[in-house]
Amino acid sequence: HDHAKRLQERTSNSRSFHERASSVTPLGVESNVRSFDPYPFYIEETDGSYVTDMDGNEYLDFLLALGPIILGHGHPEVREAVKAQVDTSDLTATPQPIAIEFMEKVVEMTPSIERVRMANSGTEATMHAMRVARSYTGKEKIAKPEGGYAGAHDYALQSVYASEEALGPAKEPNTVSYGTGIPDAVSETMVAIPFNDKEATERILRKHADDMAAVIIEPVMFSCGCLKPRDGYHEFLRDLTEELGIVLIWDEVMTGFRLGPGSAQGRFGITPDMTTFAKAAGAGYQVAGFGGRTDIMEEIIPPRKEEASKWNSSAFHGGTYNGHPVAAAAGLKTLEILDDRDVYEHIDRLGDRLFTGLQEVADDVGLPVNVQHIGSMGQVYMTDHEIASYRDTWHANGDRFADWWLEAAADGVLFGNPMQGERFFTTYSHTDEQIDDALEVAEDAFRAVDH
Ligand code: PLP
Repeated sequence: HDHAKRLQERTSNSRSFHERASSVTPLGVESNVRSFDPYPFYIEETDGSYVTDMDGNEYLDFLLALGPIILGHGHPEVREAVKAQVDTSDLTATPQPIAIEFMEKVVEMTPSIERVRMANSGTEATMHAMRVARSYTGKEKIAKPEGGYAGAHDYALQSVYASEEALGPAKEPNTVSYGTGIPDAVSETMVAIPFNDKEATERILRKHADDMAAVIIEPVMFSCGCLKPRDGYHEFLRDLTEELGIVLIWDEVMTGFRLGPGSAQGRFGITPDMTTFAKAAGAGYQVAGFGGRTDIMEEIIPPRKEEASKWNSSAFHGGTYNGHPVAAAAGLKTLEILDDRDVYEHIDRLGDRLFTGLQEVADDVGLPVNVQHIGSMGQVYMTDHEIASYRDTWHANGDRFADWWLEAAADGVLFGNPMQGERFFTTYSHTDEQIDDALEVAEDAFRAVDH
């Protein structure tokens, strides 16, 4: 059965546009994860809970730009704030109050952040945070969980996706570059740890403690779908990193301002030393940043002129577009809305309905499915296995997931993108009726895939 066929029949304009796009950009897309076989559909308009492609097909959107769209597409107040800022100022390379006001709001809302700097993407945020942690500790190695995505820079692209053979023993995984073009010397400074395995994590961190600057970790591993921490894993990691003098960086690019006004750290009651954020902080605009304890963030302050001999003793942070006034205006308005409306109550309630509903309809159809979620974020795994680590996700049937996704997309619902390792979301503009519609489409799609 060709599960892509119905979608292809509806997307002929996208098919010809894909040829044009492929003649100017590899795979015909702006970022690798937007590509799928044989061609993606191209979106021309977005509005609230829906996106519309160039063939005029409307899709109920749970992909939500891979996370940023927390208020629905084109929230009127964010749009107004952006328009007003465009009419007021553009980029200057002298500081602007609007960016400082945004950062004040970040500090106010985020438990671990006493001082903050802005960036333009999650990738930049994790890159800068890792450098600052290295500078602060004077150590080089950084640990990250295997299967975790922390951005597209060389240090982050370690042990993201790899075969069992390449990763080696589960209790002491190898560090493997994702893709080519990354020097071996980079991998040598990174150490893979198995998420949710306290015993192995402790052994690995103790072994490298003298050289270990930081652990960078997602509070919930959404880069493997939705892996929730178990058995006090984060409490354990908080205590251990403190004992060993290792900076604990929570990569909240995905969870930040989405799992609650205080992000995952507020929800879980655990305070890391540093935090990165992006995505939901800007409701679709290029807002990102990193922050943490004052003593750590002061690593980026260069010594004064009279101490010129020490000029090389601080970590550089800079960027032409950091704190862009339009992004900052979008971010400030977004955080104000998130902080004083019922956004989390709404998206979490609909998230509970959507994800538990997906489990129920899959069970009714008799398909082995395990839906895991927290609040407004979750994933459908095509397996009845419990999924607690990256290696567990190998039990899930990725091809069947893609087939299910394609069937739902042909019926106008985007349950994330066609990759089993991704996840999807609810947003403030979603309604109960839209969840009902989505569950009907999901059930038909579960029936349509090969059992
Ligand atoms: N960190 C995490 C946990 C992410 O999920 C992502 C992106 O999905 C990134 C970092 C990188 O963010 P960006 O795509 O904005 O560079």
